[in-house]
Amino acid sequence: MPQRRSLFSPRKQEMDAVSETVLERLPAPRAAAVLPEPNLDGPPPGPLTAARIVTSLLVAGPLVALAVFIPLGWGGTKTIWGLGLAVAFYLFTGFGISVGFHRLFAHHSFTPHRVLKIVLAVAGTMALEGSVISWVATHRRHHMFSDRPGDPHSPVSHGTDTPTTTRGFLWAHVGWLFASDPTSQQRFAPDLLRDPDLVKIDRLFPVLAVVSLVIPLAIGWIVTGTLGGALGMFLWAGLIRMALLHHVTWSINSVCHLWGRRPFTTGDNSTNVASLALVSFGESWHNFHHAAPASARHGVLAHQVDLAAGLIRIFEKAGWVTKVRWPTATQIETLTTRVEERAPI
Ligand SMILES: [Zn+2]
Ligand SMILES: [Zn+2]
Repeated sequence: MPQRRSLFSPRKQEMDAVSETVLERLPAPRAAAVLPEPNLDGPPPGPLTAARIVTSLLVAGPLVALAVFIPLGWGGTKTIWGLGLAVAFYLFTGFGISVGFHRLFAHHSFTPHRVLKIVLAVAGTMALEGSVISWVATHRRHHMFSDRPGDPHSPVSHGTDTPTTTRGFLWAHVGWLFASDPTSQQRFAPDLLRDPDLVKIDRLFPVLAVVSLVIPLAIGWIVTGTLGGALGMFLWAGLIRMALLHHVTWSINSVCHLWGRRPFTTGDNSTNVASLALVSFGESWHNFHHAAPASARHGVLAHQVDLAAGLIRIFEKAGWVTKVRWPTATQIETLTTRVEERAPI
């Protein structure tokens, strides 16, 4: 029987106040008769040449920049400044994705003050993982059809033997980004489309994407007063920071549906991967997340670090968020797969 203490475990009164809605699932518990149809109602696929070019630049650009810029000498003391700013941007945009895009906008794990909602939406947008409404629609579709036809980025639909597992990993990690398979925002994110703040921020995605990369360039210019310093800061706090967070997020889609532990009952292949917990802000406790998608905390077992849950707790103590859906011990127990029921991985 696993222990159920967490580094960021909720207070007892919080746990007692939690609604049973933390057990809400997207979709409802699996049964052949209630499986949703994989009719996604998405817009017809159009020419994606421009989108594919942008995606290619985002995926390959940072690697090319590293290969080109490092030999030119953009390291040394400039790297220290660049790494410091890169960590700050990584935290800002990473919490924007984890606390904002994922736990707030996709799953309504808590209710924020309007100013905090806007800050989280802007922070997530500056991660350059897509606009807020499109990100949420795609992610909710992933939960709706998890590891079944209709899932936009499942690695297991490509088979589970060794060669196809490699193909499945590559598809779930980056391949699906190039697919002509749009997701209907009207079907999967109608609540967000009714929020004028989020609609405005969604439309500002191209502007905020440029801002996210230009700010490091400007800070580099101000701090060093040289073009080399500015470009070095752009490299580390712009491109490399963005690429690292991209690969961490994509690893949740790929690694956390292929390898790891499955202590909870989900009906899909989602796993908990401890090695990714810190850099993903707790998102890699993905098996529990699929078991209880609305829970504000994903790392619910002993010693499971969940930085996003910790930040939500801080927001709650500051009075900036309410109605936080903390999981109770009883709910965790209900979702735990008994050892004898666990399938081999
Ligand atoms: Zn998943
Ligand atoms: Zn989710």
